[in-house]
Amino acid sequence: IIRFDKVVKRFGDLTVLDELDFEVKKGEKVSIIGPSGSGKSTVLRILMTLEGIDGGVVYVDGEPLWHELREGALLPAGEGHLRRMRSKLGMVFQQFNLFPHMTVMRNITEAPVKVLGLSRKDAHLRAEELLDLVGLADQAKKFPHQLSGGQQQRVGIARALAMRPSILLFDEPTSALDPELVGEVLTVIGRLAEEHDLTMLLVTHEMRFAREISDRVCFFDRGQIREEGTPEELFTDPSEDRTREFLKAIL
Ligand code: ATP
Ligand code: MG
Repeated sequence: IIRFDKVVKRFGDLTVLDELDFEVKKGEKVSIIGPSGSGKSTVLRILMTLEGIDGGVVYVDGEPLWHELREGALLPAGEGHLRRMRSKLGMVFQQFNLFPHMTVMRNITEAPVKVLGLSRKDAHLRAEELLDLVGLADQAKKFPHQLSGGQQQRVGIARALAMRPSILLFDEPTSALDPELVGEVLTVIGRLAEEHDLTMLLVTHEMRFAREISDRVCFFDRGQIREEGTPEELFTDPSEDRTREFLKAIL
């Protein structure tokens, strides 16, 4: 459902993704681990069309994301195509990125109403279900600053789900949280991981959690995948020295 085909991404002189080949199948739960600056967030940001690319092709759902097929050629995508492709994905950010001046309910219903054209009532009903799912049914009228970090992040997850994405991206969703709040967020993500249709791509430093929920773990280093495998393979018997060093430093 996601495929990076020799994708190059540069920031000035810095090559962040170096002909990256990467694939995620429909329904798969994949974790990305790796050192700081290795390009993990960049992969997610490219998928959300928050960053462009400098080479290669990204496919989502079999269609090029940053390009359109026109008259047999891959040409840069227009805004309409990007908007349609973007609607397939939802993202949960490290820093929650909630709208501070909107209630929890409004945070969740805003995009479905504005972008999907749902009625306020339908968006509201859907948001109530989602708040229930993330355990915040009684917090709809609060503003983000009235919630704990763990609660805010659970709103972030509900907000992403409100757009009914088939692919959900998480960028270190628990690393801004106090340790005692990490569990409640991981519980919600773990519950989502049991949904077979939902494709999940998770950047995380929570190795134990990655091990529990992932079908596959990819170790990123300097803009490429150095090693990938089942959690068992990668965590218990990594074949690359670089992976072993990284795991030793982090565990
Ligand atoms: P971390 O674990 O610290 O989040 P990461 O693997 O997510 O790291 P990225 O955020 O993808 O790393 O960044 C990869 C590299 O690209 C880093 O060296 C970063 O400084 C650089 N970079 C990212 N965004 C920009 C930008 N907008 N302008 C310039 N350089 C950038
Ligand atoms: Mg990052």
